[in-house]
Parts: sequence; C-alpha cells; structure tokens
Amino acid sequence: MIELRNITKKFYQKTKAITALSDVSLTVPEGKIFGVIGASGAGKSTLIRCVNLLEKPTSGEVIVAGQNLMNLSSKQLAKARRHIGMIFQHFNLLSSRTVFENVAFSLELDHTPKQEIQKRVSDLLSLVGLDEKHHDYPVNLSGGQKQRVAIARTLASNPKVLLCDEATSALDPATTKSILSLLKDINKRLNITILLITHEMDVVKDICDEVAVISEGKLIEQGAVSEVFSHP
Ligand code: ADP
Ligand code: ADP
Repeated sequence: MIELRNITKKFYQKTKAITALSDVSLTVPEGKIFGVIGASGAGKSTLIRCVNLLEKPTSGEVIVAGQNLMNLSSKQLAKARRHIGMIFQHFNLLSSRTVFENVAFSLELDHTPKQEIQKRVSDLLSLVGLDEKHHDYPVNLSGGQKQRVAIARTLASNPKVLLCDEATSALDPATTKSILSLLKDINKRLNITILLITHEMDVVKDICDEVAVISEGKLIEQGAVSEVFSHP
C-alpha cells in the first residue's frame, strides 16, 4: 500500500548538505501497522513526510495505493493526498473551531451537503468516543481527546493510509495506551494501513505488525516485530 524505493533526502544549507535519508526502501502491505523507530535526529520525521511529499525526496520513488506520487501534477497530488491522512504529536487542531467544526472542515471545503456532514461527523465522533464533545473547543479538551478529534478529522476524508508522526509522544502512558488501541481498532475495522514513527519501543511492541529501525538516515533493520526485537 505504501512503497518507498531508494529514497534519499538532502537538505541544502549555505555551505553544506545534510543527508537526512540515505537510500531508504520500505514496503507497507495493505492492512498492516508498520512502525519506524529511531533516536532523535535519525530521520523519522523526514521519512514520514516524504510519504505524502510534504518533503520531496531528492531522489527515489514514493508509491501510495498504486500511484507514483513523484510523477503527479500538483493538482493530482492534492487529490492523492486526500487518501493519505496524517496525525501529529501536537494535534494541529483549529483553536477557533469547535470539535464538530474541526472534523467537518474538509467536508465543508468539498461542499458536502449539510445533512450528510451532520451524519458523517456524528458517526466519526462516536467512533472515536467523543459523542459528548461536539460543541467543545480544543482548549477545553485533554491531550487524548484532542488526538481523538484529530483522528476523526483525518478519517473524514476516507483515507486508505494513516501517517502517525509521533502521535502519542505528548501523551501520558495511560492515554497513549488508549490512543494506540483506537488506532488498532481503526486499522482493523476500516482496513486503514498505518505507518507510524516513534522513538518509543512500547508503541511498536503494542500495535505494530512490522518495524524498521532507522539510524543516521539509514534503515538498519526491518522485519516482523517479534523477529527484530528477539535479538540478544
Ligand atoms: P527525527 O524525526 O528522527 O528526529 P528528522 O527527520 O527531523 O529526524 O531529522 C533528520 C536530520 O535532518 C537531522 O539531522 C535534522 O537536523 C535534519 N533536518 C530535518 N529537517 C531539516 C530541514 N528542514 N533543514 C535542514 N536540516 C533538516
Ligand atoms: P509535529 O512536530 O507536531 O509532528 P510536523 O513537524 O510534522 O508536526 O509538521 C509541521 C507543520 O506542518 C505542522 O505544524 C502542520 O501545521 C503542517 N502540516 C504538515 N502536513 C500537514 C498536513 N497533512 N495537514 C495539515 N497540516 C500539516
């Protein structure tokens, strides 16, 4: 469902080039939860941002749901990105909008009929366990609740793929567990393929089917979670 082929990403600064990713290849099969783990500065964030071309690789191919994103016009890319949801460490909700309005936002941009928005947003908020919070503003929510809103918001556009950029790193251990369990539920019930990056081993062990270890811009190990972490 997601395939990165020989991705290299260099950032050019005044006098030098930083190689953030060096010949990275990975395949995330449909329906799986794939984790990329590594230390700070290893290239995780750059890697996940290459999947929807928020960062454009210096070289290599990015294939999502059978489409080579590197070959698309900006209009086609915008369309393809609708099927690639993303959630972040700091949620990135719109603070001037209620929970309902945050989730409805992309549907409104699409001119979805009002009744349909009402039904769809209610269903999504129900799915993420926020039935009672339609009219609350983000500032009045806990971190876990904010991440639930962000998940509902991204599900509104029917993604095939969900990218999770350190999605639980700002949350306490109990809340982390509950968000991971929601992600697993979404993966199973909606058959959404998940790629996540994290610096926390527990996240990978909890929900990932497969894992890759990244260090200094290179994938140094890749496989089933049980294989990769059973080494001495
Ligand atoms: P991680 O997410 O694992 O902490 P990043 O992908 O953020 O790692 O960063 C990988 C490397 O690329 C680091 O050396 C970082 O400083 C560098 N880097 C990331 N983004 C930029 C940028 N926009 N400009 C220059 N260097 C960057
Ligand atoms: P975080 O540090 O929370 O993981 P990132 O560094 O990955 O966030 O993202 C940087 C900024 O780019 C975010 O503040 C966000 O506003 C913006 N952004 C990037 N991609 C998206 C996207 N797909 N949808 C909405 N905002 C995005």
